[in-house]
Amino acid sequence: MLKPNLHYGELKESYLFARIAEKTAAYLKEHPGEKLLRMGIGDVSRPLCPAVIEALHAAVEDQANFGTFRGYQPECGADFLREAVAAQYGERGLKIGADEVFVSSGASDELGHILDIFDPACPALIPEPAYPAYVDANVMSGRRILHLPTSPEGGFLPDPAGAGEGDLIYLCSPNNPTGAVLDRALLKAWVDHANARGAVILFDAAYEAFISEPDLPRSIFEIEGARTCAIEICSLSKTAGFTGTRLGWTVVPKELGRAGMSLREMWVRNRTTKSNGVSYILQRGGAAVFTPEGQAQIQKTLDIYRGNAKIMADTLDRLGVRYTGGRNAPYIWMACPAGEGSWPFFDRLLREIRVVGTPGEGFGACGEGWFRFSAFGDPADTREAMARLEKLLG
Ligand code: PLP
Repeated sequence: MLKPNLHYGELKESYLFARIAEKTAAYLKEHPGEKLLRMGIGDVSRPLCPAVIEALHAAVEDQANFGTFRGYQPECGADFLREAVAAQYGERGLKIGADEVFVSSGASDELGHILDIFDPACPALIPEPAYPAYVDANVMSGRRILHLPTSPEGGFLPDPAGAGEGDLIYLCSPNNPTGAVLDRALLKAWVDHANARGAVILFDAAYEAFISEPDLPRSIFEIEGARTCAIEICSLSKTAGFTGTRLGWTVVPKELGRAGMSLREMWVRNRTTKSNGVSYILQRGGAAVFTPEGQAQIQKTLDIYRGNAKIMADTLDRLGVRYTGGRNAPYIWMACPAGEGSWPFFDRLLREIRVVGTPGEGFGACGEGWFRFSAFGDPADTREAMARLEKLLG
């Protein structure tokens, strides 16, 4: 008899967002018509920028006519987009070849698929609190997971001194959910650790566009030595509002090899076998992000989200509440009031001020006692939610 992948039976129920939805639905049933201020979601709220919309329309038109119609796209990405991404790195002083850029349908897809090129016997190291998909994707592939808890004392930043035997190292900066950003020195320490061990870092840069301070690295390839130990996974989801449109890219450098095999060549082989490329229309839309107009327009939207994050940070500063994130990141990770668990705090905010956030416990055990707010909402709602929070805790 065919056996299913029994590792699926080891997955913990993904209850975080389901439980939030259940609790808010129950509240609204009891209090019909009340408006909830939803500060919990990691999805964006603002539309795609005009340059992207124009490019999408034009690409749809291309598909309507003989001569401009395009069929299958190259599996690793259309040259025009791979070159635009590489050029953007180039403008920041980073030499990334277009053939090291792999166009994807988003970071989530890549975080799952990339595991194909690694031996499942090599353990993954996941600093926590973490984006829950890291753990689940590794459980599904039967890989041993080493959890590396981070602490408030260390600013929720992972320390390579605790890396132990992890061979596949997950780093997410700016971090979801803590908003913590790895500085150059810490990222260099991780790169040195990975090179010394022969480990590979999966650098999740989904929120890199939120980094405004020039001294903080937006790409792991800003760090010397990263080309021999890192893969960078990027997304236009939060950078340019592509959560529902779906587009991202992954950088696998040519120098990255293990056991005599080139990981870049393995990834080419994987993509040419398991993918038939990303939609031509979406790739045209994505390329528009990298034009001067696109870059200016996405910054306007990012500034709105940054403004929301500042409203939250200023509120917590006034309240004297401990937090990470909020600067160079779209998330604020705040300490729940003394002794209060993150789910009881969730319930209290829902019932007393009708604000919905995300309990930290959902991102790993060391997230208990902490709470995440997202800056992706509406500015007026963010201001109102923070005014209510200030009244409640002030
Ligand atoms: N990585 C992190 C840390 C995220 O928070 C998210 C989405 O919220 C993703 C990856 C997935 O992004 P995408 O929409 O590109 O799949």
